[in-house]
Amino acid sequence: MNKPASKPDLDSIVLDKPMFDPKAYRLDDEQAGLIAKARELAQANFAGRAAKWDTEATFPLENYKDLHKAGLLGISIPKANGGSGAGYQTYSLAAAEIGRYCGATALTWNMHVCSTLWSGPLADDLDMDDQMRAEQHRRRAIHYKRIVEDGAIYSQPFSEGGAAAAGGVAFGTEAKPVKGGWIVNGKKIFASLSGFADYYGVLCTEVAEGEKASRRNTLYLAISAKSEGVSVVGDWDPLGMRGTVSRTLIFKDVFVPEDAALMPRGVYFQAAMRWPHMFLTLSPTYVGLAQASYDFTVKYLRGEIPGMPPVKRRMYPTKQIAVAQMQIKLEQLKSIWFQAVTEACANPSKEQVLRAYAAQYTVMEGANELAALAIRTCGGQAMLKTLPLERIYRDSRCGALMLPWTAELCLDRIGREALYEAGEKDE
Ligand SMILES: Cc1cc2nc3c(=O)[nH]c(=O)nc-3n(C[C@H](O)[C@H](O)[C@H](O)COP(=O)(O)OP(=O)(O)OC[C@H]3O[C@@H](n4cnc5c(N)ncnc54)[C@H](O)[C@@H]3O)c2cc1C
Repeated sequence: MNKPASKPDLDSIVLDKPMFDPKAYRLDDEQAGLIAKARELAQANFAGRAAKWDTEATFPLENYKDLHKAGLLGISIPKANGGSGAGYQTYSLAAAEIGRYCGATALTWNMHVCSTLWSGPLADDLDMDDQMRAEQHRRRAIHYKRIVEDGAIYSQPFSEGGAAAAGGVAFGTEAKPVKGGWIVNGKKIFASLSGFADYYGVLCTEVAEGEKASRRNTLYLAISAKSEGVSVVGDWDPLGMRGTVSRTLIFKDVFVPEDAALMPRGVYFQAAMRWPHMFLTLSPTYVGLAQASYDFTVKYLRGEIPGMPPVKRRMYPTKQIAVAQMQIKLEQLKSIWFQAVTEACANPSKEQVLRAYAAQYTVMEGANELAALAIRTCGGQAMLKTLPLERIYRDSRCGALMLPWTAELCLDRIGREALYEAGEKDE
């Protein structure tokens, strides 16, 4: 069951308008309600705390308590399991609203929600025989109950520092099948929520004695942070997204029971092949950051930033042109992205896949370009650390680096897949 919504202090603030107006974007009332809930909570509670997580590079645990109370930890958990049953588009729009006020919360919430979105509505689109599907439903119910009832937090540590997270080779983290489960050994870098997630949703390769590692045998296991042999090492002092606390995770002879599987054998590989939009889910955070840069600039030039002298700068033609350029860029970014998240499905057409890469590229590069334009337009006082813009600038720089769809890899894929049909070679 969803917990009653927490009550953000809505009386003391003027609520921002939604980034995607429900009427203009043809969202139904249920979607609009969930997205509004995320926006109101983030504006009322997360915006004011964001500087703290950034300065201290600490995890926004307080925000997670609010997300649990508001029922948003289970946003994409099916209603039958006590969640809100949000599909891909609704989740993405809600995440963008959170990213508008706290990038680190939105990015880590993405890791958490994807554990449920991928094992839930996305997995429902994939091929499984009846027995396998029944087993999948039984297992995921265990995970969903923990989230909905206990507020358990899940993360997604995939990256290893080699070619695996880009989809090139099998994950080096290996799961050896043993009676009742697996023994897992390996290392994950940039593991957001390290030390704070209750379960690490690890991608690893199942390798039986004498077998060779294959991407087809990728397993998606939710490993309890309390398991013997799990440790968090290294420090975390990056340029941006500091509240994600993406330290290194080590798994040393960790026993993982069968029920830890978030997807049955072979299903993650099938998802990666047939549901490519699963890798677009890091983008909503950065759509929110793009909107935040624009919102800040308009407020700043109108002399409406709280705590700043009410000096207006909007009368200068150069400022007006800069805002016009930002608005055009923001609209372009939101339009392609909205289309891409709206059409996410199993077995998309080639055109839809190319558009998804283009949307990811446009958002991840565009968010930082908008932040840079905002700083140039607003001027020196706007980048002081007492204001959010310089944090937005640093946070937005991180988007293009996220594997497997980094900005470089999107270009790489668009060029290759536009020029070659599957299996085509030059000689
Ligand atoms: C704030 C933050 C939070 C993160 N959180 C998580 C998380 O929770 N879970 C997680 O799994 N990862 C996470 N990551 C990691 C992220 O997805 C990347 O894995 C990481 O940034 C890769 O860094 P790298 O230097 O090892 O990349 P490398 O693999 O060294 O690649 C460097 C660059 O080369 C390019 N490149 C890579 N492979 C190829 C190729 N085959 N062909 C052409 N070009 C290529 C890419 O553009 C890439 O950016 C996070 C990263 C950041 C910045």
